[in-house]
Amino acid sequence: MGDHRMLVDGKLVDAESGRMFDNVNPATEEVLGQVADGSRGDMERAVAAARTAFDTTGWATDRAARKAALLQLQDALEGEREDLRSELVAEVGCPVIVTYGPQLDWPLAEALRWPAEMIDTFEWERSLGTSDALGLGATAKEVWKEPIGVVGVIVPWNFPFEIIMNKLGPILAMGNTCVIKPAPDTPWNATRLARVIAEQTDIPPGVVNVVTSKDHATGEVLTTSPLVDMVAFTGSTATGRRIMEAASATVKPVFLELGGKSVNLVLDDGDLEGTAAMAGMVCMHAGQGCAMPTRMMVPNRRLGEAVEIAKAAMEAVSYGDPTDPSVVQGPQVSRKQQERVLGYIESGRAQGARVVTGGGIPTSLPKGFFVEPTLFADVDNSMTIAQEEIFGPVLVIIGYDDDEDAIRIANDSIYGLSGMITSGDLDRAKAVARRIRTGTLALNGGLYYGADSPFGGYKQSGVGRQCGIEGLEIFTETKTVAWPAT
Ligand code: NAD
Repeated sequence: MGDHRMLVDGKLVDAESGRMFDNVNPATEEVLGQVADGSRGDMERAVAAARTAFDTTGWATDRAARKAALLQLQDALEGEREDLRSELVAEVGCPVIVTYGPQLDWPLAEALRWPAEMIDTFEWERSLGTSDALGLGATAKEVWKEPIGVVGVIVPWNFPFEIIMNKLGPILAMGNTCVIKPAPDTPWNATRLARVIAEQTDIPPGVVNVVTSKDHATGEVLTTSPLVDMVAFTGSTATGRRIMEAASATVKPVFLELGGKSVNLVLDDGDLEGTAAMAGMVCMHAGQGCAMPTRMMVPNRRLGEAVEIAKAAMEAVSYGDPTDPSVVQGPQVSRKQQERVLGYIESGRAQGARVVTGGGIPTSLPKGFFVEPTLFADVDNSMTIAQEEIFGPVLVIIGYDDDEDAIRIANDSIYGLSGMITSGDLDRAKAVARRIRTGTLALNGGLYYGADSPFGGYKQSGVGRQCGIEGLEIFTETKTVAWPAT
């Protein structure tokens, strides 16, 4: 299991120093194996390879070759599906059931195929026609879309393969080259991808590079190097701020997918029983999803009823061994994350919220970084547990007076990534949706996920969109060309 090598300039390599670091299974705390501990020097070599591949090969201009290479990679990854599945369960601690959805099978189905097929229909050029608006003679004009260049890709550990794939497809389809820096907690899905690219595809050397590193700061090279044209980052808002600041020295565009504190809003004509009975969804993958609707909002007059139904739902969540197909909640990814989540639970108690169920480490699971499914009531939206992203199996329930009050509370957040609205009247749900400042919204249980669907955040949840046409355009530059009309 697990390839320890990085991909630099088409070659599978060890770190220059020969150093390695451990990959730990968060459910058992056992060391799964090791991976290369790349340095800044390794990162700089990868950046130079990506620069050369962009500047000196036909990759940036040969659309047909890119389409063929992307589809070839897609096919090759199909053959790795079951190894990827067991590896993701082991290193991420993700329940196997989640790998049949967003952790593996969904991105495997379309994250490369959709952008590859869009190469044929994307508006690479548009004519502005001929005009003489300034009275200086007739001019013909065109607008060309071109690849932006070398993209530094920095990813987190929660949905590592999905996030890499949803960046890689558009980056390559648009003609860019890249260096990928995986999160240190989850390196093997990226080194497997690296090996498949090197051994089973015609993607030219240097077009995709993968550098693993135990030290988060190795990724800084991607944010500061003048050879990198853009940074595409998914991770916490705190790191996103640092990346934006570092990228400013070379005026690099940044594409940031950051944190969230999304609402699950039940309007007073909505299915409160059904929504509260689904409260346990925030425990899926131990709550380690940026788009989790972790603030449930219900009308004040039905708050007590909602808390009781949600309590039963949280207590019914099956958690534990992520290889068990009936489990929906595995461990937090690391001891550090487990401690962070427990710290938030303590802050909730200290600020006067009431733990309705859960609130600690499950005594039945002495090994692994588990946290009990936890429900808080008596929550005011100003509390830390209602404002900050916990990234754990923790739900807060908040009451509201009327639609205006609900919209105010929903928007009272530095975040704006996702959310859900339930109403008996779709038009009413849409009217409320228009007033909530967030990048995606599921109305009455709709599913917004898909390679064709832009995903990203308002406010401090990010800059730019992943997937969809917007997710292709973000990896392009725009050139306007003009010539005298004859
Ligand atoms: P993180 O910000 O700690 O780390 C993310 C990546 O950045 C890692 O690869 C890390 O090594 C690297 N990094 C850290 N410091 C760096 C620096 N100074 N320069 C360059 N790279 C650096 O995030 P995490 O804990 O790995 O992931 C969890 C976060 O990711 C949550 O906040 C979650 O909401 C967010 N997330 C967002 C989305 C989205 O699409 N909006 C999706 C998934 C996860």
